[in-house]
Amino acid sequence: MIVELKEVTIKTKQNFQIIDITSQVEDFIKNNTIDTGTITITTKHTTTAIRVNENEPLLFKDIKNHINLLTQCNEYHHDKIEERKNCPANEPKNAHSHLKALLLGASETLPIMNGKLNLGTWQHILFIELDGPRERTYTMVLMGK
Ligand code: ZN
Repeated sequence: MIVELKEVTIKTKQNFQIIDITSQVEDFIKNNTIDTGTITITTKHTTTAIRVNENEPLLFKDIKNHINLLTQCNEYHHDKIEERKNCPANEPKNAHSHLKALLLGASETLPIMNGKLNLGTWQHILFIELDGPRERTYTMVLMGK
């Protein structure tokens, strides 16, 4: 049984940015002698997401528009900085970013077969920044034999 963990730090460049991390995940699998198992990719932040979908720039625009539409609101409680508890004083008004992250999800667990990531033709692993630009970290945990 093989269990390996890797943390990756990236610097995002936009407030809402979709970054294809498939090749980084594939490299991690290649560098470990695993034949069959799973890999779990998890973001360490409450305002980023990990999703599997197509890497197509026009679709990225649609995803952004759709997620922005779903999180439109005139007044968020989390943005009432003076009433906040248990969060850093310097945190921005970012309730909309947390809600986007909640809708999208923080991790994906994917199959490995014959030493390779077993994704469909159009499937890519996407790291989604929702409150950037910032330095961000995600973890990859590989399990198998
Ligand atoms: Zn917040």
